[in-house]
Amino acid sequence: MKKILPILLLLSLYACTTEQAKPVQTASDNVFMVVLGIAQDAGYPQAACTKVCCKDLWNNTAHRRQVTCLGLVDKEAEKVWLLEATPDIKFQMEQLAACLPSRETHLPDGILLTHAHIGHYTGLMHLGREAIGAKEVPVFAMPRMKNFLQTQEPWAQLVRLKNIAIQNLQADSTLVLSKNLKITPFLVPHRDELSETVGYRIEGPSKKGLFIPDIDKWNKWERSIKKEIQEVDFAYLDGTFFKNGEIPNRDMSLIPHPFIEESVALFDDLAMEEKKKITFIHFNHTNPALNPKSAERLELLAKGYRLAEEGERQGL
Ligand SMILES: [Zn+2]
Ligand SMILES: [Zn+2]
Ligand SMILES: [Zn+2]
Repeated sequence: MKKILPILLLLSLYACTTEQAKPVQTASDNVFMVVLGIAQDAGYPQAACTKVCCKDLWNNTAHRRQVTCLGLVDKEAEKVWLLEATPDIKFQMEQLAACLPSRETHLPDGILLTHAHIGHYTGLMHLGREAIGAKEVPVFAMPRMKNFLQTQEPWAQLVRLKNIAIQNLQADSTLVLSKNLKITPFLVPHRDELSETVGYRIEGPSKKGLFIPDIDKWNKWERSIKKEIQEVDFAYLDGTFFKNGEIPNRDMSLIPHPFIEESVALFDDLAMEEKKKITFIHFNHTNPALNPKSAERLELLAKGYRLAEEGERQGL
């Protein structure tokens, strides 16, 4: 017996680290956020990747992941919104519609964009003439993003044909989506070649959350991410790369993101309660945290962090 106890203890510790805490949504939640994709812009697997990260995924759909996207659902108002228009939008619209089956339309009541990198807006193409031929779907965009869509083809055609109706977003200005839901875009430093980049603060009747899928480095931001985390109930944060050197033969300083290793070091002095609010998302195909059995993933879970999973819901 004396020998068995420590083994049992070890086993139970191991069990704790392989399964992460479930996000909080109760059956009574009428307002919630749902995760519809967790991968970086290029998805998982990534085009032409022959490396170990992707090679088995071409024939195995179970482990594939969609591009980062969140859905917002207000059952009381019977409305749904998409955060991001990704290359996987046709699946994500279905998954979002399934959250509120009483609605006839499978189109969202609005699409809120963060920036003009391929994983975040090119899904808009499905609203155009070659696809849905939608009528004035509200697309919420910041000033540079709006200008980009209005002036660059083929996006300008969506505006001309009134497939989309661009709604103005302003940094730090709160948008009321419904009686229950508010959302506030805020600027974050990102490469910004074609548009500015925003993150969102989401506010429901009882919970608040943060969504920052892309940011160059935490210390380039004039705000303190640790303070921002303390002011919300949950935070979905840029987890693109695990550590420097992850993509061989590419200068990673040209595609800056806070490495998960750096974020974990920065958040080290946060109380466990705060760490548990943090869920990493927007994983590059090379990120070992995508692998359910990797040591990197288990280490993050053991430290109290979460890794976003498709289909998970956060009550708001
Ligand atoms: Zn991205
Ligand atoms: Zn790969
Ligand atoms: Zn980006």
